[in-house]
Amino acid sequence: MNAPKYPIQHRYIAKRSNTRPGLRLTTGVPAFFVAHDTGNPGASADNHYRYFNALTDRSASAHTFIDDKQILEIIPAGTASDPAEKAWHVLYNVTTDNERFGYDANDAALGVELCYGGSIDFEEAYKRFVWYLAFCCQRWNKDPRLFIPSHKQLDPARKIDCDNALKSGGRTLKDLIGDVTAELKVLNDEKTNGSPTSGNGTSTSPKPAKPSVPVPNTPADFVPLPTEIALALIAEYVRPAWASARAADKQPEADHFHRLAVNLRSAAGIDDAGRKLASAVKLHKSNVQELVFRWLSPAWYQAKSKGDTEAADIAHNRANSLRRAAGLPEQ
Ligand SMILES: [Zn+2]
Repeated sequence: MNAPKYPIQHRYIAKRSNTRPGLRLTTGVPAFFVAHDTGNPGASADNHYRYFNALTDRSASAHTFIDDKQILEIIPAGTASDPAEKAWHVLYNVTTDNERFGYDANDAALGVELCYGGSIDFEEAYKRFVWYLAFCCQRWNKDPRLFIPSHKQLDPARKIDCDNALKSGGRTLKDLIGDVTAELKVLNDEKTNGSPTSGNGTSTSPKPAKPSVPVPNTPADFVPLPTEIALALIAEYVRPAWASARAADKQPEADHFHRLAVNLRSAAGIDDAGRKLASAVKLHKSNVQELVFRWLSPAWYQAKSKGDTEAADIAHNRANSLRRAAGLPEQ
């Protein structure tokens, strides 16, 4: 992998319930990215680190602050080895996030803040903001056109960010999404070709006539199933079901579970010895429905009723990984 165009700094604020509760995102990894501005013209990323590290009288925070000098994560966002945590950047009683994404933004999204105004060079800050959002979209396989709402879109009655800061630099949210989409294509081309691009954010290398790997700059048709999830589902559910069908001499049922395991491995792009294959195969919708209804929904309900949020989250994440592997929307 190429060195990232901009370094991502991590300097985490202290854990405190009103700013950094220290809870993992419900979705495990970020499911979308809320584009904010700080609403605080002239204040840098460092200023916001100090502000939120000392804040005690209200609940507020966000993961990442970006100015003309740095990209600073003050709450783990999952871009490095620390798992993504919750931050308080969109009011819980706002419902647009639930309707659009199935989650409260605080439980599932990164809050990404553009610093602007005063002596902050808008263009430099904007370039970093665009790159960081593209980096996140690449890392978690999200289409910028679908998964980057502005705070204003989620809470139009109260909020004007990040549209307001963009306006100060002559940009609109539509420009931002377009620029992130273009930057994502550069990142994906780099990944495909292994060639670094020039430093100005546009790829200067000629496009190969036929890239060896399709570049997902349009909504991906499906996302390969993570290997560890495929193997866990087989080990925990499918193989025991196969074994008990065999023991009961129900061969058609045993064959069915055998095919289900084969399909899960194909969806993860691995063979039956766990070796990586050249590509993954889209999962059948009926396989997703079966796995969710037979095992994952009951596991989720059981975990919820016992107050085991971690087990509930695991079941939920597995269901969504299956849905993605079949090109279905997350729930
Ligand atoms: Zn905001």
